[in-house]
Amino acid sequence: MKHCFGKSLWGVLAFALMLSACGGKKSKATDEPTRQDTTIGSRTVAEFSIDSTTLVWIQDNAGDKLMPRTLFADAPDSLVSSLGLENGIPSSVSTFLMEKKDSCVMLFDTGNGAPDSRLMDGLAQMGLSPADVRYLCLTHFHGDHIGGMMRADTVVFPNAEVYASKVEYDAWMQMPDEQKALVVKTMEAYKNRLHLFQFGDTLPGGVVALEAVGHTPGHTVFQAGKILVVGDLMHGVALQKEHPEFCASYDRDKEAAVATRKRILKYVRDNGLTMAGMHFPAPGIIAGE
Ligand SMILES: [Zn+2]
Repeated sequence: MKHCFGKSLWGVLAFALMLSACGGKKSKATDEPTRQDTTIGSRTVAEFSIDSTTLVWIQDNAGDKLMPRTLFADAPDSLVSSLGLENGIPSSVSTFLMEKKDSCVMLFDTGNGAPDSRLMDGLAQMGLSPADVRYLCLTHFHGDHIGGMMRADTVVFPNAEVYASKVEYDAWMQMPDEQKALVVKTMEAYKNRLHLFQFGDTLPGGVVALEAVGHTPGHTVFQAGKILVVGDLMHGVALQKEHPEFCASYDRDKEAAVATRKRILKYVRDNGLTMAGMHFPAPGIIAGE
């Protein structure tokens, strides 16, 4: 194993969450995380470990991010006000890096690749370069998730095997040219290392790709043991976790998105999973409950 995200590698840790590592089915009580916060400047990197898996949260966007209240047009003012969300819903653009013991360095999504993107900075904080990313899993093909895969016409992750939903890929290839330009360019650049999975497939590191369609035609969530990387299941978690019936306007198929959100949230509750979301506010994860 070339890299191990031991604490010695970390100059800074914004947040650490540990769950006891034990086999078999855990009770609700033992799933409660022991949480330790460390704030150093405005760092946005966080690490937490569950069983043999370590997941690192890397916020890609440089500043604070609020999803505008107008994104959730169906949510009534009275509810939004009661939650104190009139001015927007705390959010982020995030990626997650996973290390499985004796296994792999896997990145989930890549952020926007904007000039002020912090993904490279986040990797460097861990002593990693883009060349160290062995596997890249994509939740879907929106620009804030695949934008970081290319820098102009150059691939950013020269050694990564890329995993994406076949349903997502096929759907995008049917879209008008102006909508799919970034997707076509990016997938072409990685085509020799692109693996299109079916829902239910097990990927390297024992990660399972699960169907979560609605936001996009092939939107995928990834499960690694007790961790569920949920992509864009929720854009405004402070509203949608308790009220999954409300969509952000980004959801392409609202009916499917609502059904998926309810189903996945129940799955998380039933199994005591910890969610890692690409638009969750700090610290990027929500422990199972
Ligand atoms: Zn997104």
